[in-house]
Amino acid sequence: MRETRFTFAGRGPGTTHEVRTLAFGDPDARPHVHVQGGLHADEGPGMLAAWLLAGMLAEAEAQGRLRGHLTVIPAANPLGLGQILHGDLSGRFDLHDGRNFNRDYPDLTDFAAARLAGRLGPDAQANSAAVRVELAAALAACPALDPADRLRHHLMGQALGADLVLDLHCDGEAEMHLYTQPAAADIFAPLAAFLGCRAVLLAEVSGGRPFDEAVSAPWALLGARFADWPIPLGCASCTVELRGRSDVCRAMAARDARAIVDFLIHAGVIAGRVDVPAARCAMTPLAGSEALVAPVAGLVSYVAQLGETVQAGTPVAEITDLATGHVTQVAASTSGVFYARPATRIAEIGKRLGKIAGATPFRSGSLLSP
Ligand SMILES: [Zn+2]
Repeated sequence: MRETRFTFAGRGPGTTHEVRTLAFGDPDARPHVHVQGGLHADEGPGMLAAWLLAGMLAEAEAQGRLRGHLTVIPAANPLGLGQILHGDLSGRFDLHDGRNFNRDYPDLTDFAAARLAGRLGPDAQANSAAVRVELAAALAACPALDPADRLRHHLMGQALGADLVLDLHCDGEAEMHLYTQPAAADIFAPLAAFLGCRAVLLAEVSGGRPFDEAVSAPWALLGARFADWPIPLGCASCTVELRGRSDVCRAMAARDARAIVDFLIHAGVIAGRVDVPAARCAMTPLAGSEALVAPVAGLVSYVAQLGETVQAGTPVAEITDLATGHVTQVAASTSGVFYARPATRIAEIGKRLGKIAGATPFRSGSLLSP
């Protein structure tokens, strides 16, 4: 295992932050798999799983079983980890400007496309190498003065050259689920099966430029722009939601890390043999995932439990009005697996109360939670 540290200036004068990357295997080997946890700094399950994964990779490396190159960032967001207000860690949004740490990654497509024009040909591998070089050049050309943007820039740089990228997150309370793009669905289907995902949500573009799409989307976009020449999907990425925020448990995280190792064995990155278990869900469009919304404010109690398959028209939650005691039922409009909900039980009007993985697309625009 090799370790590199990226140090950058914090927002406060005289402060610095550090991000550690742990690397395993031959740095020139392919495939390169990159895993990060804690981009949302208040999501512990991914950080713990990433640390345990690093331990398993170190062991595999010592046994000479690594066939590819692996990098792991166990705690990707030191800025967020420092945002502790009155005893609560606020790690999803930058308290400086309200931006979500997993949004606003630069779109490198135009810059790379301008430099690739006239340089591509019938050799897919050569095209792939050229795309990789120009995406790196595009990132290098992006301005990043603000500390959060410097962090975005660094994290993207660590992942941009990888063939497979896993960004580990969690929801408020949730079943295991995973987000990826349709072009990468087959690649990550075994990962979803090993992890026991109860929902796999597919979207070409989710909106808001999250980290995972920022490193993979340019490949599909460049492929569409230069349709005369073969450009493979050089980077397939996914966001794994390792259940809920309080599901931080070493035994559980060890099982999750083992599931990722099994996926890496299946993908040929680690030597060995594994059988892919049966999938626990069908993949569904993210545009078909219903975000239940509180029509009134009050105290929330759930009628449906996570993991249940709910039917359209059936109640999922009840909201008790604090002024009158009146109870408002919130029913599903979509049939599917009820896979995530917030950790709090106090709702303001418009609060998102849960997610149901429906099979029929009905949403458009920005598809992710704020
Ligand atoms: Zn997250």
